[in-house]
Amino acid sequence: MDLLEILKHVPENNQLIATSIVLTRSKLKHYKKVLCSISGGSDSDILLDLCQKLDGSDRITYAFFDTGLEFAATKEHIGFLEQKYNIQIEWVKAEKPVPLCCQTYGQPFLSKQVSEWIERLQRHNFGWEDEPFEALYKKYPRCKAALRWWCNDFARSGKGKESSFNIAYNRFLKEFMIENPPTFRISNKCCHYAKKMSAGRFRENGNFDLNMYGVRKAEGGARRTAYKSCFSQGKGNCDEFRPIFWYVSDTKAVYEKYYHIEHSRCYREYGLKRTGCAGCPFGKNFEEELVAMWQYEPRLLVAVNSIFRDTYEYTRAYRKFVMSRKNEENNGDIK
Ligand code: SF4
Repeated sequence: MDLLEILKHVPENNQLIATSIVLTRSKLKHYKKVLCSISGGSDSDILLDLCQKLDGSDRITYAFFDTGLEFAATKEHIGFLEQKYNIQIEWVKAEKPVPLCCQTYGQPFLSKQVSEWIERLQRHNFGWEDEPFEALYKKYPRCKAALRWWCNDFARSGKGKESSFNIAYNRFLKEFMIENPPTFRISNKCCHYAKKMSAGRFRENGNFDLNMYGVRKAEGGARRTAYKSCFSQGKGNCDEFRPIFWYVSDTKAVYEKYYHIEHSRCYREYGLKRTGCAGCPFGKNFEEELVAMWQYEPRLLVAVNSIFRDTYEYTRAYRKFVMSRKNEENNGDIK
């Protein structure tokens, strides 16, 4: 469709939507081989719809990276998108799927960064001692950065805010771990092997010069802070473009309504707010996902409960610990 024609019909004259259309069109003209990552999530639905409106969309390779722990509803939605837009979405299997990674390296706990530090400490048979950095560094001389995390040795921000590199960033985590040292291996390697590596290989092998994906600044979390704008120059030959980076929830709602975007059953039926690896322990709402699985995808529930058994138990115990410490704090029992 002609650009002017599309812009004439931009819903509610929404500037963010208009800008995303203009920018995406210009990128499609400028780059020769474009990869567009499709996750089956709501943001990626909008991204795909946006791309399909523009000339040059036939030069896009769409790819779905299957981590090995996807909702059946997500997979089904990928098929729906193929039919709706009459396109092919390449189905890329993980280098190592999440279940295998967890078995081999350990289970993710709390966040990518926290899992990384714990994994390093475990590699050095750390005893979870509550001692000053200098003493611990003598005992574990090859584990400096992780010990700094454990000892809250990284400087606070100018505003006095706790550094996200310190364990104190997660309230009472240190106290909890001292009382309850982990008895299972913790690792964030599944993110590396099941997500990052598969996407990286596919990108390199395909000689793409632009990778587009549906990240929004307003969605929060580590992904938001990792990017400052909608475009970044890639380390290799492949640049990165996030067409809907500036969309806020309202923009999304306007787009969805006007262009009749239909999301996967994860949203429509299960009531989930976001998708991705099913039951990922990093998710604040993983318990809600488990309830949805229990109701709609019971076999998946059995699988995730087995893959993430230890980390679920540990996370629940930590959350309970935080709750009771906060209560004590409110009652004036902790200074
Ligand atoms: S999102 Fe969660 S389950 Fe998926 S690869 Fe990363 S840590 Fe593993």
